[in-house]
Amino acid sequence: MSKRYADVVALARVKYAFRPSTVTVLIGPSGCGKSTLLRLLVGLVRPDAGRVIVNDVELTATNLLAWRHQVGYVIQDGGLFPHLSARQNVVLLARHLGRDASVIDQRFNELADLVGLGTTSLDCYPQQLSGGQRQRVALMRALMLDPQVLFLDEPLGALDPLTRHALQGELKIIFAQLNKTVILVTHDMNEAMYFADQIILMHEGEIVQSGMPRDLHASPVNPFVSEFIRAHQGWPSRSN
Ligand code: ADP
Repeated sequence: MSKRYADVVALARVKYAFRPSTVTVLIGPSGCGKSTLLRLLVGLVRPDAGRVIVNDVELTATNLLAWRHQVGYVIQDGGLFPHLSARQNVVLLARHLGRDASVIDQRFNELADLVGLGTTSLDCYPQQLSGGQRQRVALMRALMLDPQVLFLDEPLGALDPLTRHALQGELKIIFAQLNKTVILVTHDMNEAMYFADQIILMHEGEIVQSGMPRDLHASPVNPFVSEFIRAHQGWPSRSN
């Protein structure tokens, strides 16, 4: 796929086959096209050229909305509706789609357990919650319809270091429990190495190298990759 915004090439001929039931991390310097690629995959943005193919079917204007209901998408600040309680945010789409109330309740309770949120927090409005709690609610909302793919765009980027560290650990456990296809954007190499089964390093709208996290370190394909890795020396810093 490729995508331009006026004179800016956001994506220049990117081609990649994402593996199911795998955590793939997109990493690269600011402005290299990570979020644009994610938005194209979610179906929020259409490519200028190229296609998104899901289970052998191309995304088109006809099936795009159905696809959007089969994915979960979490952004940096959670993107919760401020005038709705956490609970209302989580169930909004399922209610809109006319899902059975008892099924919604059951799923809601399962997800509250999964992310470790209690009733008191879930009856609060987003501005009454901490950043970490808001991201837990955003994750519940993204998982409500049991999506095929979970997309996360810098989901921990706005959190303080302690909260971020704690949520990284929790998210890793949640990913393992869900066994879903997860595609996560970060600019933090430690975070990428911690989460990734597969890693994609981007630069100026292109995929420079992809593979297992340690491949990038062991066999960088060009000086940019070596430089990027060197600039983030110290990984992996987590022991759990
Ligand atoms: P990253 O997520 O890696 O920081 P982005 O995908 O957000 O990068 O952006 C890639 C390039 O495309 C940047 O130069 C950015 O300014 C530009 N861009 C992204 N979205 C838009 C938009 N909606 N309008 C104009 N330019 C955009």
